[in-house]
Amino acid sequence: MRKNIVAGNWKMNLEYEQGVSLFSEIVNMAKDEVIGAQEVVVCSPAIHLSSIAKLSSGVANVHVGAQNIHQAESGAYTGEISASQVKSVGAEYVILGHSERRAFFKETDALLADKTNAALKHQLNPIFCIGETKEERESGSFFDVIKTQLEAGLFHLSATEFAQVVLAYEPVWAIGTGLTASPEQAQEVHAFIRATVAEKYGEAVADDTSILYGGSCNPSNAESLFSQKDIDGGLIGGASLKSRDFLDIVKVFN
Ligand code: PEP
Repeated sequence: MRKNIVAGNWKMNLEYEQGVSLFSEIVNMAKDEVIGAQEVVVCSPAIHLSSIAKLSSGVANVHVGAQNIHQAESGAYTGEISASQVKSVGAEYVILGHSERRAFFKETDALLADKTNAALKHQLNPIFCIGETKEERESGSFFDVIKTQLEAGLFHLSATEFAQVVLAYEPVWAIGTGLTASPEQAQEVHAFIRATVAEKYGEAVADDTSILYGGSCNPSNAESLFSQKDIDGGLIGGASLKSRDFLDIVKVFN
């Protein structure tokens, strides 16, 4: 079911108490204020997950997610965390394919396909990130890049499995740079993503797919982005570390 979703990505920020305190503020504000988005998701480092999932329990529309999982079920993978471990503390989402993981940890489309399978096996909804680099935008190859990321990372799924996936278009040149895609640039790619999904799974599945925009989204530009026809919310990095800014982005849907 297509939903408006605003998801925060805390990345490797916030010590334990800071994260719990920020999440408590978000939950309290979400209880007091009208939040238009149908789902608010906070993707924290693994150390916060168990505590913030408890704080979110019973709070309508507020969910938590991880930022990564290992593709294996369990075993000798020192330092890694599995889908079932993430699920066992009450998380419901996991970010997969973030450009930082693709670039710094060399995560390939094939690996991301395996991680997607692991997430779905344990009822975690992937927030699957795709997007082009600055060079790919400038050379005009970005539609091909995005199509390949979709095909190689996700198109092995059945339609029922694909329905659990949230997509996030995150142009790499816009992440953490203060450079935001214009609403028209973002809409053009979101429409292309939806059409590509429709070609593979049909119009009904494509219409039901939530496609988020990510890349220097903040309270000043969220409204113009989220008002585009094919933009169903945002994946928010820097601005998710301030409760007021994050909630103001969530409230764009009021
Ligand atoms: C992100 O890392 O997913 C992101 C969108 O970051 P920022 O909002 O800081 O550009």
